[in-house]
Amino acid sequence: MALATNLGFPRVGVDRELKKAQEAFWRGDKSAAELEQTAFTLRQRHWQLQHEAGIDHIPVNDFSLYDHVLDTIAMTGSIPPRYGFNQSGKKTDKQVDLNTYFAMARGRQAAGVDVVAMEMTKWFDTNYHYIVPEFYQDTHFSLASHKVIDQFIEAKKQGLAHPRPVLLGPVSFLLLGKSYSKDLNKLDLLADLLKVYQQVLSKLEAAGAEWVQIDEPCLVLDLDAEIQQAYKTAYQQLAAHLAKNKKLKLLLTTYFGDLGNNLELALSLPVAGVHLDLIRAPQQLDQVTNEITADKYLSMGVIDGRNVWKTDFNHALVLINKALDKISSDHLFIAPSCSLLHSPVDLDQETSLDSRIKNWLAFAKQKLAEIKLLTDAANGDINQVAFAENQTAMRAKSTSELIHNPDVKSAVAKVDEPMLQRKQPYALRAKLQRASLQLPILPTTTIGSFPQTKDVRQARARFKKGELNAAEYQQFLQEKTKETIEIQEELDIDMLVHGEFERNDMVEYFGEQLDGFIFTRNGWVQSYGSRCVKPPIIFGDVARPKPMTVAWSSYAQSLTKRLVKGMLTGPITILQWSFVRNDQPRSETCRQIALAIRQEVIDLETAGIKAIQIDEPAIREGLPLRKADWADYLSWAVDAFRLSAAGVKDETQIHTHMCYSEFNDIIQAISDLDADVISIETSRSAMELLDAFVEFQYPNDIGPGVYDIHSPRVPKTEEMVHLLEKALKVIKAEQVWVNPDCGLKTRDWPEVKEALGQMVAATKQLRQKMSA
Ligand code: GLN
Ligand code: ZN
Repeated sequence: MALATNLGFPRVGVDRELKKAQEAFWRGDKSAAELEQTAFTLRQRHWQLQHEAGIDHIPVNDFSLYDHVLDTIAMTGSIPPRYGFNQSGKKTDKQVDLNTYFAMARGRQAAGVDVVAMEMTKWFDTNYHYIVPEFYQDTHFSLASHKVIDQFIEAKKQGLAHPRPVLLGPVSFLLLGKSYSKDLNKLDLLADLLKVYQQVLSKLEAAGAEWVQIDEPCLVLDLDAEIQQAYKTAYQQLAAHLAKNKKLKLLLTTYFGDLGNNLELALSLPVAGVHLDLIRAPQQLDQVTNEITADKYLSMGVIDGRNVWKTDFNHALVLINKALDKISSDHLFIAPSCSLLHSPVDLDQETSLDSRIKNWLAFAKQKLAEIKLLTDAANGDINQVAFAENQTAMRAKSTSELIHNPDVKSAVAKVDEPMLQRKQPYALRAKLQRASLQLPILPTTTIGSFPQTKDVRQARARFKKGELNAAEYQQFLQEKTKETIEIQEELDIDMLVHGEFERNDMVEYFGEQLDGFIFTRNGWVQSYGSRCVKPPIIFGDVARPKPMTVAWSSYAQSLTKRLVKGMLTGPITILQWSFVRNDQPRSETCRQIALAIRQEVIDLETAGIKAIQIDEPAIREGLPLRKADWADYLSWAVDAFRLSAAGVKDETQIHTHMCYSEFNDIIQAISDLDADVISIETSRSAMELLDAFVEFQYPNDIGPGVYDIHSPRVPKTEEMVHLLEKALKVIKAEQVWVNPDCGLKTRDWPEVKEALGQMVAATKQLRQKMSA
């Protein structure tokens, strides 16, 4: 019999109970015991849910008080020395306590302690962030957290028949970390690390575990021979260790992509079973079923763990039947493509969604039911009613008028090469823009948002609750905008912004006004720690029924003689930060969004706005995991941006903004966007980033961020002068703009005024030097 299995369940709870408990603990409003109690209740509830859904292998240790990579850091005792854990460097039995754990996650300032947090970065191409392990020459591993064993025992006590502990695999753990010692090759730490994994496996086995899920998502990346060898060494050693009594089986889980050239390696590793992501990479199934040895189990990820759509049962069944041709059903697991961590928890909570659209969706809880139904089907027991309902939903979705808008499809079909091109090359546009905009050398500007202070958030909340009517809310926002324009004039900034007070979020604001988007009430997904996001769902063809920002930009422009920059979110960022429909390529959806933004850009121009910024902070994070796929992505992403921007006259200045720091490898694509001005985050790396722009000889205007807005610290004039001088050494003065490195919405007014004041002063100093 095939088994119904799961790889991981959302931790946060349907009402974000975990978030609330974490934050209460951090504030000191809850004790550690109370936090642990909430965590315990959530685990129990989620296990029960999976049990009731008929899941045979239920994951444990997928739960985390912050992050599963941080849990692995704790488990392996690789606590960076600054947290004062095991200072002696000697191996002890000491366990990581909660304060040390959260100090690593968030930094700690308390009686006599002042330590910064560990770095955080994106988990593969998801919006989840993990804590980056730090490795040093003298890193020694020791079993410093028994959490996985404790939670396994906890699950057993709850009566679960086959709880399946989840571990992040040793090779992925090393690869995801960062080496902080100059000559350290992280893989040299493998042998020492494996000892901890062996200890953990022994303890799990002693506690009665049958299977351990060992996640090695790095197997879907480009790997060199040395890493491939590390995989062999690691798993041979673990297998040799397990061979002593053979009770415990390892399931090697891969997800987020194709094994590709690592497929043979993955299949050769001495583990009991292998999991494949057959949503992202169904094409690998044939080769795997041909090459997998008869003793191995195959776990088929046929339910999308990364998106919100119902599974097409017939489609999944084709894959399952294909596998059944070659593999006996008692060696088959049916599973989600990856952990359900990346799905919202429960669709049943969404009582105000359009029921027709709701009928196309499945969140984590609903996906459990899908796993079970498909497992039964694999075992020859097709639930006819459920299958018929599923096919009805699939048919409705493929033809629904809600989704398919013929006007959008024909507009997209008409997009041609000239629509992606400004009329003249940048050099000629720049002349026209200089004449029209009359800006001083080193023009000053900001990135868009100004502080979203308590009064702004409160007014929005009251408006949503109906305590403020539309006119009152409008008036409040106008006053805020007016004040902000006046402040910028007083500061003597050259190109102003309206401040974005009407926006809660740079994607949601546009999604709410575009056709083809819906919003959930409770569709939260963990982004990092206690932070959750509620991505919009793009379910249908995207169209713009009416202008979205023109009134605000026009209003702001009417208040001042200075230029006000229009402010839009770009198509790639809107796509990247949403759940995207799966019935057409992402590139197609992106193009539709780009057309909608293009109309907005043109309307802004018509309304007299002379500079328009199209933010694309997410362009880099959309990069595929494999280098071979980059060119294709970059080509459609660049086209989408150009489509959104190129509808205007050459006199109209197009800006863009990006805030991820590794531009070097996509610099050509950034240049291909052909924005007249780009503002980028550089201040934290003290303009090192500019090297890329220099080597490449970036042709258009650049505003390297001159101060870090992520910190409350107000920089001194001299620091900014220094940074700008650095920039001016490598970029022509006519190309340089002066701006902070990102939007100011998270800051407070006093520090913003002061910092911008210093920024303008720095600029004036430099202008004076230059004219002297
Ligand atoms: N215009 C946006 C703002 O200032 C840009 C935000 C971002 O880059 N993430 O808030
Ligand atoms: Zn930014």
